[in-house]
Amino acid sequence: MATIEVPCRYCNSLLVYKHGYARSGEPRYRCRECLRSFQHTYRYEGNKPETPEKIVEMAMNGSGVRDTSRVLKVSITTVIAHLKKIRTGKSQSITDTRGDGAP
Ligand SMILES: [Zn+2]
Repeated sequence: MATIEVPCRYCNSLLVYKHGYARSGEPRYRCRECLRSFQHTYRYEGNKPETPEKIVEMAMNGSGVRDTSRVLKVSITTVIAHLKKIRTGKSQSITDTRGDGAP
């Protein structure tokens, strides 16, 4: 039987154990160090960790909500929700791109 080592998505620790299944059927994992749960692979494009960064990048390059939705294969609702999270400062994955520390 093949074994796959799944590093933690947040802290790269290998102390990870299985933590049930997502609604999509993909297995979920939980890290023993940072106690956060995550999936190794995501079925839906909108849940992938790199999607919010792509949405911001497209918005910064002048793409509209419908254009972004079509290119990234996520719903318009997902695009708007991520853009609103950034505006209110509730996003975890987006870092300060300007580098001046201003809100
Ligand atoms: Zn972790």
